[in-house]
Amino acid sequence: MKTKVGLLYGGKSAEHKVSMQTAMAVIKALDLDKFEIHPIYISEEGQWVKGPQLQGPVSSVKELEFSQGEALPPTALAPTLFQDSQQKGPFDVIFPLLHGPNGEDGTVQGLLELLNLPYVGNGVLASSAGMDKVIMKNIFAQADLPQVKYVWFIRSEWENETAAAYDKVEKELGYPCFVKPANLGSSVGISKCMNRSELEEAFKEAFQFDRKIIIEEGVTAREIEAGVLGNDYPECSVAGEIVPKLEFYDYKAKYEDGDTALIIPAEISEKEYSELKDMAIKAFKALDCSGLVRADFFLTREGKLYINEVNTMPGFTPFSMFPLLWKHTGVEYPQLIEKLVNLAIERHAEKQ
Ligand code: ATP
Ligand code: MG
Ligand code: MG
Ligand code: MG
Repeated sequence: MKTKVGLLYGGKSAEHKVSMQTAMAVIKALDLDKFEIHPIYISEEGQWVKGPQLQGPVSSVKELEFSQGEALPPTALAPTLFQDSQQKGPFDVIFPLLHGPNGEDGTVQGLLELLNLPYVGNGVLASSAGMDKVIMKNIFAQADLPQVKYVWFIRSEWENETAAAYDKVEKELGYPCFVKPANLGSSVGISKCMNRSELEEAFKEAFQFDRKIIIEEGVTAREIEAGVLGNDYPECSVAGEIVPKLEFYDYKAKYEDGDTALIIPAEISEKEYSELKDMAIKAFKALDCSGLVRADFFLTREGKLYINEVNTMPGFTPFSMFPLLWKHTGVEYPQLIEKLVNLAIERHAEKQ
């Protein structure tokens, strides 16, 4: 019997486009002798559209943007996911290929929990804690994971005491610093600041995406990432290094300009790798993750390692860091997808 995979992609998030690319790649990689692919497209407005079962790869994202058919909000669509029987929906597993808010942040995971459907990746808690950089860093701090210094504000605090907010950043962090929306990814809304006027601009920019922002001490460091895969017994991939051509690894460098070099495995010492691996697994456990995460690190010239963040649904095209890390560790892309599906089913079974 084939495994029926409900593929959720698109999404009401600034990372909609990234998700579309990933969906195409996953569809291409899934072995149709083993899997049935049922697409569910989420438009940028948040409408869910269930498409027909896919018979093979698609050649453009347009084919995945179902505009015909029935457009429903998720709460209306939810019962149809249950249509076939009381116990089991038409899907064996859901693959939420969604990045950013309303997808990677526990909201969709919560819906799938209520529907009692197995789904790939992290659960509600890990997804939501991993999406909010402030909460994530607070949890990492509690687990004694080394991090750069940070402060955060919600919009109303900044509106009420604007100058005090900038003063606090200058006093506690200084320049350079990085201003980021608390809940986002793909570097959207992130700025590097060298002075007060850049800081003011950066606050405005970041607050356009979120009511909460985080500001971090800027470090000069190499950027090293590792993938973690598993449930209760997570395993770490080889490490990879990102070498952005531009000032930092921004949205453009990630998705528009192919110049960023990914060096896999990263040229780091055995000792550095062993420390990084321990930190990646510790971070995975601290957030109570399941399935997968990509852990992002900074490695300074002095050999000091800081964890920057984890991503609970990292970029997932065959050319993205996470799949490439696993490829170099010995797990090819189609195999990686199967592993994730199996981990999802295993975790679901444990909960019953
Ligand atoms: P993604 O989820 O796609 O990895 P993100 O939006 O969550 O990205 P970060 O990974 O936190 O954002 O930051 C994006 C990039 O900005 C980093 O890869 C790095 O190049 C740069 N950067 C972020 N924070 C710092 C910092 N504190 N010091 C130096 N560089 C930083
Ligand atoms: Mg991130
Ligand atoms: Mg991300
Ligand atoms: Mg990152």
